Amino acid sequence: AKADGGGCLRVFEPGMDEKLRTRRALTADLRQAVERQELTILFQPQVSTATRRIKGAEALLRWYHPTRGLIGPDTFIPLAEETGLIVPIGAWVLEEACQIARGWQGLNLAVNVSPIQVRQVGFVATVERALAHSGLPPERLELEITEAAMLANTADTLAVLSRLRSLGVRLAMDDFGTGYSSLATLQRFRFDKIKVDRSFIRHVENDPKAIALLRAVIAMGSALDVITNAEGVEDEGQLSMLRAEGCEEAQGFLFGRPMSAAEFQVQAGLQDVQ
Ligand code: C2E
Ligand code: CA
Ligand code: CA
Ligand code: CA
Repeated sequence: AKADGGGCLRVFEPGMDEKLRTRRALTADLRQAVERQELTILFQPQVSTATRRIKGAEALLRWYHPTRGLIGPDTFIPLAEETGLIVPIGAWVLEEACQIARGWQGLNLAVNVSPIQVRQVGFVATVERALAHSGLPPERLELEITEAAMLANTADTLAVLSRLRSLGVRLAMDDFGTGYSSLATLQRFRFDKIKVDRSFIRHVENDPKAIALLRAVIAMGSALDVITNAEGVEDEGQLSMLRAEGCEEAQGFLFGRPMSAAEFQVQAGLQDVQ
């Protein structure tokens, strides 16, 4: 045990020093990852359940670390959020992904946005800049926001979302069903899309409760005039179930894993992009 500067006692488990050291090292590396061009954006198709046609793609970040290899966003996004690095990294993702999607002949681009970004002064300007630099029409950009973004600082957050909507950008509520106040949030603010979390889709073929919940979310979406997207669709059985229940949009390994921009352009049948 060791007393830190604040006078409070901290117990280190065995291996804790090692973990801390790794975190510090990773954070230092992350600081330079953008300029060293180690970050890459992959794209995962979003399709219409009725036609299977590709409507657009979600941008998903990857970090190719020079010595540690591929690091997934579930590892480094939390680090980036704790250190504030998510602000420059998030701005880079917006700039880069909008540039890429500019040539997508009408298809949409979805970009994940961290709660830290939404609360940062200047976020709306960052989005405006990415649109202006790329020439991507605002209505083709969708920002995916999780519940956590809504929890703190309500009035300010709602004002930011309103300003984004007046730019013409669309808003999706990500990971729906995993938070604590999803319904309250939907009541307070108009989203364009609800993304139903993968955990509800996984059991939809054999668990009556999962089906009942999914049905309720789709009914709610249609009552509120909000599109529903089912995340994590992996097989045909799930797709036909979703189609039968009236879920408009789906995303998952069945239609494609996250892939490079070049691969996405081929799969979407786009010609001569850039
Ligand atoms: P998310 O926004 O919920 O993204 C969906 C995750 O589910 C992705 O993981 C995707 O690869 C995975 N996935 C998609 N379809 C399937 C499927 O059919 N089966 C299974 N098992 N998984 C599927 P990924 O790419 O590892 O991203 C994890 C999370 O990291 C994302 O969850 C998102 O919250 C965050 N993230 C990714 N890119 C960014 C970014 O640019 N900015 C921010 N702030 N967060 C990001
Ligand atoms: Ca997402
Ligand atoms: Ca999600
Ligand atoms: Ca997630």
